[in-house]
Amino acid sequence: MKVPFIDLKRAHEPIRDELMEAFGRTIDHGGFCLGPEVAAFEAEFARVQGVSRSVGVGSGTEALHLVAEAWDIGPGDEVIVPAFTFIASAWFAQYVGARVVFADIDSESYTLDPQCIESLITDKTKAIVVTHLFGQAADMDPIMAIARDRGIPVVEDAAQAHLARYRDRPVGEIGDAGVFSFYPTKNLGGLGEGGTVTSSDGELLDRVEVLRAHGMKERYLHHYVGYNNRMEGLQAAALSVKLPHLSEKTERRQAIAAHYRSGISLEGLVLPRSMDWGDSVYHMFTIQHPERDRLREHLTENGVGTDIVYPYPLHLQPCFSFLGYSVGDFPIAEGLADRCLSLPIVPELTDEEVDYVIDRINAFA
Ligand SMILES: *Cc1c(COP(=O)(O)O)cnc(C)c1O
Repeated sequence: MKVPFIDLKRAHEPIRDELMEAFGRTIDHGGFCLGPEVAAFEAEFARVQGVSRSVGVGSGTEALHLVAEAWDIGPGDEVIVPAFTFIASAWFAQYVGARVVFADIDSESYTLDPQCIESLITDKTKAIVVTHLFGQAADMDPIMAIARDRGIPVVEDAAQAHLARYRDRPVGEIGDAGVFSFYPTKNLGGLGEGGTVTSSDGELLDRVEVLRAHGMKERYLHHYVGYNNRMEGLQAAALSVKLPHLSEKTERRQAIAAHYRSGISLEGLVLPRSMDWGDSVYHMFTIQHPERDRLREHLTENGVGTDIVYPYPLHLQPCFSFLGYSVGDFPIAEGLADRCLSLPIVPELTDEEVDYVIDRINAFA
């Protein structure tokens, strides 16, 4: 049996006709950059996610960038970022010339450890980036308590966490801003690039709307140095076809995770913890094993697709060598990078496939 790690074709086959119809409609009205498809998707995504409002942009990375711009973060400022996340969480600071200050992650949730933040705060700290990694919400209450106390804004990187909740609150506006990605492999993915900024702060979102379209408030009158960062109509049209299925797809991811939890019994393998503040939406099902590379090879030989997400923590990335971090600075992040392995968890997997993955893992010697 062959079990794919990701299979976009399987995801799109059943909605192919609906997608073609949505593309046809967009071709007919011609709203390709912003336009009616984007406006409709922005409103519907905000409703489904349970946030006040969302502003569609070109990607999750650019959503982060525009929030940093809108908050006027820049050279001389510092931003606290978890040492284990996708690189774009750190681009938030780097793109605007601020200094990235890494913090370790919590060993159970794999998200920013609230206990590591306080000692890193200086009078230059201008934001905290919190990633809801692998679909698991970070422990927001203690993080927000520290941030509110010091008057530091928090951006939630929810690129992997559509529909995730923290103590019954949807992610995306627990902090001062949230960003989501619609990269094709995300829990809600377009047929290309896309992202959105969410917030309960209308002024911030108004600014992001201006920044995404050349800093222009009135036609050809440019108030800010802006960007060409509009969500595309064709992407919004595709996302609107997929959005109604997101809840059911998320439940399927959670069911597969439960199946893995009850079936996997390999000694030494660490399953992802389920946190009492809210179940993960399982963008990834990431296990740890001391012989990760050998386990991965065994699974590959048995036809099971896996991925290492992520093999390197951010403080040891070559692009950040100028920051001067070294091995040993963030032991939890480094240990996870050495031992993590992500198993297939796309909602289109069959129960037989999941059983097969479990069987092959348990057969590892
Ligand atoms: C995917 C991702 C991003 C970037 O989103 P893009 O749409 O690919 O630019 C940012 N942060 C995290 C945690 C991600 O997983």
